[in-house]
Amino acid sequence: MEEEELQALREKLLARRRELLTQGDLSVDPNRPTPVEHADEDEQPLNEMNQVIASKRNRARVDELRKIEAALQRMAADPEEFGLCLDCDEPIPVRRLELMPWATLCVPCQTKRSGPRRDGRRRHLRDFDD
Ligand SMILES: [Zn+2]
Repeated sequence: MEEEELQALREKLLARRRELLTQGDLSVDPNRPTPVEHADEDEQPLNEMNQVIASKRNRARVDELRKIEAALQRMAADPEEFGLCLDCDEPIPVRRLELMPWATLCVPCQTKRSGPRRDGRRRHLRDFDD
C-alpha cells in the first residue's frame, strides 16, 4: 500500500480512537460505586434498562477500539502487508478501508465467510421438490 494512503488511514484510525475515548463513560468514575449486576431488590427497572443499554453501547465501543488498536499494530508491524485481504491476499479496495480501516478481508471473502446459510435453505427446497 502507498505510504500516503497508509498515513491517511493511520490518521483516520487515531482520530476515531480519540473520538471513542472522549465519548466519556468508558473510564470508571472513582466517586461512583460499581453498579451491582444482580440486585435482588425490585428497584427501578427503567434505571436498570438504561444501564443495560449503556453497557451494550460500551461493549460496541470497546469492540471498535480493539479493532482499531489491532489495525494500528498491524500497520506498525507490517506496513507492506497492511490492506491485503487475509484470505486471498488481494489488496482491499481503498474505498472500503476508508470506511473500515480495520477491515482484514475484502468484500467477496467477507461475504463467503458469513454467508453459508442461504445454501442450506436452497438444498432444503430442492429436497422438497424431489
Ligand atoms: Zn479476499
